[in-house]
Amino acid sequence: MLVHELLTTASITLAKAGVENSQIDAELLLGHCLKKSRSSLYLLSKEDVSVDILTAFNTLLKRREQREPLAYILGVQEFWSMDFLVSPDVLIPRPETELLLETAIKYWKNNTQQSGYILDLCCGSGVIAIVLAKELGVQILAIDISNEALLLAKENAKKNGVLNQIHFMQSDLVSACINKPFLSMIVSNPPYVSQQDLAQGLQDEVQWYEPHLALDGGDKGLEIIRRIAEDSPPMMLSDSALFMEIGNDQGADVVSLFTHDRKANTQPYANCVVSKDYSGHDRIFHTTIK
Ligand code: GLN
Repeated sequence: MLVHELLTTASITLAKAGVENSQIDAELLLGHCLKKSRSSLYLLSKEDVSVDILTAFNTLLKRREQREPLAYILGVQEFWSMDFLVSPDVLIPRPETELLLETAIKYWKNNTQQSGYILDLCCGSGVIAIVLAKELGVQILAIDISNEALLLAKENAKKNGVLNQIHFMQSDLVSACINKPFLSMIVSNPPYVSQQDLAQGLQDEVQWYEPHLALDGGDKGLEIIRRIAEDSPPMMLSDSALFMEIGNDQGADVVSLFTHDRKANTQPYANCVVSKDYSGHDRIFHTTIK
C-alpha cells in the first residue's frame, strides 16, 4: 500500500471513530512509525509502506481508534516549544496552561524579584516548574501527590536541562512543607473539574484515559482550590503572588474562596483578579498575599 492510500484509509477510520483531527492524527502516527516529520510525508506519498511499518502503524491506529489520546500513544507532547514526556499518570499539558505561564512570567518580570522558592503545586508532568526554571533562572519547588507523576516530572526536567534548579517533593498540597514563609510565588494547575462534569462525561479521550486524580476537584470542582486558599498563606512570603488555572465558569466562586478565609476569619489575600482565556472564558486567577 502507498503512503497516501494508507493515510486516506486511516483518516477515514479515525473520523468514523469520532476523532476530531483524523487526518493530522493519521499523519502524526505514520510519521512516528517512519521516524519522519509530518511535512516530509508528502514527499513520500507515492512510496510503498513495508509490512513491518504497516503492522506497527496499525497497532497505533487501533489505539487511537479507541480514543486513546495521541500524546499518550506517542509518549510526548509539545508545550512552550519544548518536548515533554507524558504518560497516563499525568495530564496532557494544554494551551491554557501556557497562558497561565505567560501571565505569571510577565508579572514576575515586572515586579521586584524576591528571594525564596517558586512553587509549582500539583506539578504533574512538571511543565510549569520546568518552563519557570528555564525562563526565570530561579529555584523551583515542584509538589505532587503522585509519585509516578514526580518520577516523570524529574525525567522531563533532566531532558530539558533544568534538573539542578528544581526540587521535587511528594506531598498532599502543602501539607509536607515547612510551616514558615519561604515561597515567593505559587503557580498551579490544580484539579478543578467538578464531580458533576466527571460523572456526565468529558470528551472520551479525557474521560477514559487522563488521570482522574489530576482532574477531580470534588464538589463544583472547587475543593482542592479551597484547600489551596486555606493552607498556603503560612508558607508565602509577604507580597508573594499566586497564579492558578481555573475552570471556565469558576471565577466568581474562586474569588469568594480567597476573600473569605472562614478558618481564621482573616483575609490574607489581596488584589484577586480573574482573567479570561482566548475563548473568553474565566481561566487565570491571580492574587497576592498581604
Ligand atoms: N483543562 C482540563 C480539562 O478541562 C482540566 C485541568 C485541570 O483540572 N487542572 O479537561
